[in-house]
Amino acid sequence: LIEMRDVHKSFGSTAVLKGVSLSVRDGGVVCIIGPSGSGKSTILRCINGLMTIDKGTIRVGSFAVETLKSDKQLVPLRHQVAMVFQQYNLFPHRTVLQNLTMAPVQVLGENPAAVRERALALLAKVRLTGKQHAYPGELSGGQQQRVAIARALAMQPKVILFDEVTAALDPEMVSEVLNVIRDLAREGMTCVLVTHEMRFAQEVADEVFFTDRGVIVEHGPPATIFQNPTDPRLKAFLDKVL
Ligand code: ATP
Ligand code: MG
Repeated sequence: LIEMRDVHKSFGSTAVLKGVSLSVRDGGVVCIIGPSGSGKSTILRCINGLMTIDKGTIRVGSFAVETLKSDKQLVPLRHQVAMVFQQYNLFPHRTVLQNLTMAPVQVLGENPAAVRERALALLAKVRLTGKQHAYPGELSGGQQQRVAIARALAMQPKVILFDEVTAALDPEMVSEVLNVIRDLAREGMTCVLVTHEMRFAQEVADEVFFTDRGVIVEHGPPATIFQNPTDPRLKAFLDKVL
């Protein structure tokens, strides 16, 4: 479903991605791990066209992402590729239900009643039944992040990109968000996760990619990456974080 080949990206004279290749099959769960500044978020932003690339190719389904230039050309891609960030970015003056229904109704032009039905089902899925009339400010961080995930799902994307979605949460709220992501992964949603939760990565990922200074240093099944790393940079990283 996703295929990045030899992707290069620089900011001015700083090369941030230096030939990144990565693929994700339909229904696959890929985790990207690596030190701060190694290019993890940049990889996600390139996949959904938030950033243009200097060289290489990116396929997402039938889209050739590097050829999409204008916002208008990018709209159909963004409908299929949802992204959830560390900061939830919910609309503070809209209820939970409105946060979920706005884009499908206003952007996709879907039937409001049908969208509302789907939104309520999604709230149940993220374990927030009964919170549809709450405002984001009335919810905990973990609850807000689950609303953000439900909002992404409301667009019925083919893939969801998660960028350190638990990094800003208090420890007791981390697992409630990871549980929701685990459910999605098990149901066959294609997921690309940038995470510092190594145990979670080990549990849910089909494949783990380790980035360092703009390159994929090593990738493979979680058992290999975590129990049998070969590259010294990966070994040093795991020594620090495990
Ligand atoms: P972290 O774990 O801290 O989130 P990361 O692996 O996600 O790090 P990126 O955010 O992809 O790293 O950034 C990689 C490098 O690119 C960093 O050195 C960063 O300073 C640089 N960078 C990212 N975005 C920009 C930008 N818009 N302009 C200039 N430099 C940028
Ligand atoms: Mg990042």
